[in-house]
Amino acid sequence: MASETISIDYDDLKELGKTGAKIPAIGLGTWGIGGSFHPDYSRDEYWVKIIRKGIELGMWLIDTAEMYARGHAEELVGRAIKAFDRDNVFIITKVWPDNLSYEKVIKAAEKSLARLDTSYIDLYLIHWPTPSMPLKEIMKAFEFLVEKGLVRYIGVSNFDAKLLDEARSYLSKTDIVANEVKYSIADRTIERDLLPYAQKERITIIAYSPLEKGRLAKDRILAQIGRKYNKSAAQVALNWLISKHNVIAIPKAGTESHLKENAEAMGWRLSLEDLRYLDEKYPV
Ligand code: NAP
Repeated sequence: MASETISIDYDDLKELGKTGAKIPAIGLGTWGIGGSFHPDYSRDEYWVKIIRKGIELGMWLIDTAEMYARGHAEELVGRAIKAFDRDNVFIITKVWPDNLSYEKVIKAAEKSLARLDTSYIDLYLIHWPTPSMPLKEIMKAFEFLVEKGLVRYIGVSNFDAKLLDEARSYLSKTDIVANEVKYSIADRTIERDLLPYAQKERITIIAYSPLEKGRLAKDRILAQIGRKYNKSAAQVALNWLISKHNVIAIPKAGTESHLKENAEAMGWRLSLEDLRYLDEKYPV
């Protein structure tokens, strides 16, 4: 039986951690934009247009990484945001495990800034933890970047609750505001430990692969619920995520119609009754 204590978050602008800063409930993923493991320069104009369109539609939070297309995704984001006031977009980028030492983190951040062609990163994350990373040292480098004004907020990605807690223990001047992790209606693993921890501590969960790489767009149960609202299966999958407190989603879209569809997963909410029904159909 689903919990009786579901409380719906109706905000499409959510607070980032406990910073007071607001971010959209749905942002843009960029894995695959401008290449995947290698840069692909053949569709640059197209991708710049897509990112700009997403921002115009309200998805003005962009998730990228130094690893994506070996930096080319960051370059495209940098070009796309030139059409907007810098303060009106929110950029997340991430440092790859190869660069997890004090000195390397700082160099990696400087290189990301150069590719993004901007003077600050809104949110900087450790992309993946490794068993051998010097976490205390890395957190000190993150604090240095904040002190220098090169990074506004810091966070992690793919951390479990225990490691997240450990990372926070090394910080004295700032705190972790977000953890970017895999989360969708079909993969609710984080609800066991991480989500309750994050909600209690007011740390934002940034849900990646929220559409299970597109698979959920074809889900029959989600499509059936969506018909009641004149919404698609993908929109139901995204709305289910953003109805949760401290959770935002970052679907990647490669077409204008997918962008529009994803943006229109905001502005409404599934009913409590439908949320309960979905919780039973897709158990943790
Ligand atoms: P996803 O967002 O779940 O799925 C993307 C796929 O769904 C694409 O093939 C896209 O197709 C399709 N799609 C998007 N909107 C759709 C719609 N409305 N209807 C039907 N299909 C739709 O998967 P993801 O790219 O793995 O995750 C999203 C983002 O999270 C990434 O881009 C990346 O920024 C981030 N991420 C982070 C990590 C990490 O370790 N921190 C790991 C994985 C991903 P089209 O391209 O044709 O639109």
